Amino acid sequence: DTTAVTVLGLGNMGAALADAFLAAGHSTTVWNRTADKADPLVGKGARRAATVEEAVRASPVVVVCLLDYDAVHEVLDPVGGALRGRAVFNLTNGTPRQARDTAGWAGKLGCEYVDGGIMAVPQIIGSESAFVLYSGPGKAAFEAGRELLEVLGSARFVGDDAGLASLLDLALNGAMYGLLGGAMHAIAVVGTEGVKAQDFSAELLVPYLTSMTGIIPHFARQIDTGEYQVDVVAALGMQQVGYRNIRRASLDQGISTDLLDPMQSLMDRRVADGFADDDFSAVAEVLKNSGT
Ligand code: NDP
Repeated sequence: DTTAVTVLGLGNMGAALADAFLAAGHSTTVWNRTADKADPLVGKGARRAATVEEAVRASPVVVVCLLDYDAVHEVLDPVGGALRGRAVFNLTNGTPRQARDTAGWAGKLGCEYVDGGIMAVPQIIGSESAFVLYSGPGKAAFEAGRELLEVLGSARFVGDDAGLASLLDLALNGAMYGLLGGAMHAIAVVGTEGVKAQDFSAELLVPYLTSMTGIIPHFARQIDTGEYQVDVVAALGMQQVGYRNIRRASLDQGISTDLLDPMQSLMDRRVADGFADDDFSAVAEVLKNSGT
């Protein structure tokens, strides 16, 4: 397949996307605000567009990977007319609302729009472990471009709502930061007694976290059924007390509890509401309807 593709934005991620398209033999046109970031790609056969409009007109498929949606609109709004009849895959990170607004904007311009969330770092783009979530009104464009998109990683279309890919992406990354934040906290705590991060990580931390993710399907079942007192693994009344020891020990070692405190608060609230016998998964109930 030699479908021509344009990539707008050649930061760490955009450059990796363009590189993968080139490696797969696609005719690839690139544009970046700071033009010299295109040099290595041009050296590999990419065509450099002098302007955004030239870049957009060069291909039926336009992949956008800029810092944020402000940048997306700054770049695309002035060339809106050139987008008519093309397929736009916007892989810029943003909120569901931004994705839906941009889908509406694109619809008025007469272009096919699909929003996306890249679940990978640049180094693994094009590898088996990379996947990209897509959603939006342009399902036909997604199907037509699937072979091209699969070059970046497994391509998963999740629905017609342009905001859904973003919602899933942000939820997954929120979970990732919780996990990684917990790991950074643990490493800081053991470091106070001279335990080396690499030893701790290889021998204990990664095996333990890997084993604990196995409990998530059980919690998911409790959440889906709303039955938090069935097959309880560890009652909140007990965990609330044990958790205080994690906080106390961290403070005794001179380590901040900034990452721990929110969880204590959630458990305390659920127990205060009279649910000490619930499993840990009931913190999900406390989280509901708390946004502003
Ligand atoms: P970089 O900071 O490396 O690159 C940002 C890009 O946006 C550059 O091409 C930059 O142009 C461009 N840009 C920023 N502001 C403007 C503007 N006002 N007008 C025109 N161009 C602008 O970021 P990444 O490439 O790493 O990330 C790009 C997107 O991919 C982000 O939304 C990010 O969240 C997402 N992503 C990144 C991942 C990663 O691991 N890197 C993982 C998953 C998603 P210039 O070179 O001129 O500054």
